[in-house]
Amino acid sequence: MKKHQTLFINVRLATMVDEVGYGLIDDHGLLVEADHIIWIGLMSDRQSALESDPKVIDCQGRLMTPGLIDCHSHLVYGGDRADEFELRLEGASYEALAKAGGGIKSTVKATRDANQESLLSSAKKRLTPLLNEGVTTVEIKSGYGLDSETEIKMLRVAKQLEADCSVRIQKTFLGAHALPVEYADRSDDYIELVCNKMLPEAHAAGLVDAVDVFIENIAFTVAQAERVFDCAEALGLPVKAHVEQLSNMGGAVMTAKRQALSVDHIEFLAEQDVPTIAQNNTVAVLLPGAFYVLRETKLPPIDALRANGVSMAIATDANPGSSPVHSLLLIMNMACTLFRLTPAEALRGVTINAAKALGLDKELGSLSVGKQADLVLWDIDKPAMLSYQIGLNPCAAIMRSGIWRKPLESYSDR
Ligand SMILES: [Zn+2]
Repeated sequence: MKKHQTLFINVRLATMVDEVGYGLIDDHGLLVEADHIIWIGLMSDRQSALESDPKVIDCQGRLMTPGLIDCHSHLVYGGDRADEFELRLEGASYEALAKAGGGIKSTVKATRDANQESLLSSAKKRLTPLLNEGVTTVEIKSGYGLDSETEIKMLRVAKQLEADCSVRIQKTFLGAHALPVEYADRSDDYIELVCNKMLPEAHAAGLVDAVDVFIENIAFTVAQAERVFDCAEALGLPVKAHVEQLSNMGGAVMTAKRQALSVDHIEFLAEQDVPTIAQNNTVAVLLPGAFYVLRETKLPPIDALRANGVSMAIATDANPGSSPVHSLLLIMNMACTLFRLTPAEALRGVTINAAKALGLDKELGSLSVGKQADLVLWDIDKPAMLSYQIGLNPCAAIMRSGIWRKPLESYSDR
């Protein structure tokens, strides 16, 4: 049986295949068969080789990029922290809020109390604006359960989102996100619970693609993270970590040396530590949303990352406390405005480098023959428009694994 083919013509391709820049090409067609890209080339070459009769999509000069990838999020959780946001702006101190059970503790309680249906419904509402902006892959972490049952409940919700929403979900176990109240002053005991019960149970349920740890003076030590990574490696799972967000603990170097997928946040990473990140081919995931919300002033060492050729990704870090952000296009603008990334670096950060941060760069992240047909058509011709405009979504069409999630309206002339 002949496989279904779609041929895109009159399209400007931001292929993202070059080492830098957008890899822009004009006058080329792109052919999708089933769920893969099977040909990119000059139309004159295609005519002679054309054997089948594909459905032709005239893109009218629109820009096409790979489907966008949000490689760091905490989209599944119970409750919200709007009251806390308001109280803080009315003058309440952080200590007073913490004493009143605020901060991450309140999210853990709300997530433990929520059933799977309500977690799924609230997560769908947060996911929808991302999907409307052409996001086709999202990483979602656990970490608001801090017990086996709730961590597994969160990861099940993440898995269900993939089935319900035409999006690829990478599930990350973040049991070592914070110390639960029942383990106060017993953090080593909690790490043993993570290693001996929580992670193996979540893994046995088929719910873990990678393992993350929050290494920070308010969370876990480098030694405790090493213990969790040992267990992850024994299960054959890749690792990554939240590191050097509020201080330099040396977490990034230890994590990178484990051939980690990524080190995330890294505002306080020392320049002399950057070569170790580069040597281990670990991606630096920058999170300008949390930088913005926390009104952080210490910038990640962007120049050193660039000079050492470290792949930089950017992500929403969508979470109820430090980054209630549900727009990857806004994050691209923040990365340019706050971190001085170029618009090309910002787009690489949500395509090819984000794919690399998830270990999926063989299948996703660029417009290349053999990759998944995750494609977005935009009502623009300059890729910098994606980073430049704020609050304007030029997404015209979205295809995920060869299936239209949002078809190009035939009447929507440019
Ligand atoms: Zn995070």
